[in-house]
Amino acid sequence: MAITLPELPYAKDALAPHISERTLEFHYGKHHAGYVTKLNAAIDEDPSLAGKSLDELVRTTKGGVYNNAAQIWNHTFYWQSMSPKGGGAPRGAIADAIDASFGSFDNFKAAFTKAAGGHFGSGWAWAVKDGERGVKVIETHDAICAMGIGESPLLVCDVWEHAYYIDYQNARPSYIEAWWNLVNWDHANAQL
Ligand code: MN
Repeated sequence: MAITLPELPYAKDALAPHISERTLEFHYGKHHAGYVTKLNAAIDEDPSLAGKSLDELVRTTKGGVYNNAAQIWNHTFYWQSMSPKGGGAPRGAIADAIDASFGSFDNFKAAFTKAAGGHFGSGWAWAVKDGERGVKVIETHDAICAMGIGESPLLVCDVWEHAYYIDYQNARPSYIEAWWNLVNWDHANAQL
């Protein structure tokens, strides 16, 4: 069965002005969609991959197949990590987990912003579970998927240049600051 491109959880213009419709046209419509096309082409060429779920492909493959599968997984989780109604202070269980691990939302925000802003080159900044009650911040390079390395992702921010170049050119810190206006705490709570 072919891997499909999940629908965006909102309209392409719904994240503006923080992330523009034009960025979503390229980031979702070209980059995310492109990974799906390439993965399906690889599956067509290798019968041993057929019938595996996306999670299985992320967990069990390497090289180009892994890169495309992981990028599909990461982008789907990235869209879910944002919402037009997002931003502001965390609420619910994620707020308690952040306080338990970082002492305050401000400390967590600073640690996540440092990871996302300081990551060299392409990659991802993640909030993942730390034990049963806590949260930690990790970075992954290129396509590496936190789920695939045994972590339990709560939120992710894409720090590949294609995520922000149209709106912010090389100013990744401006994009990250804008991302905080979209962060989807309901999604993080659903992962806890
Ligand atoms: Mn991306």
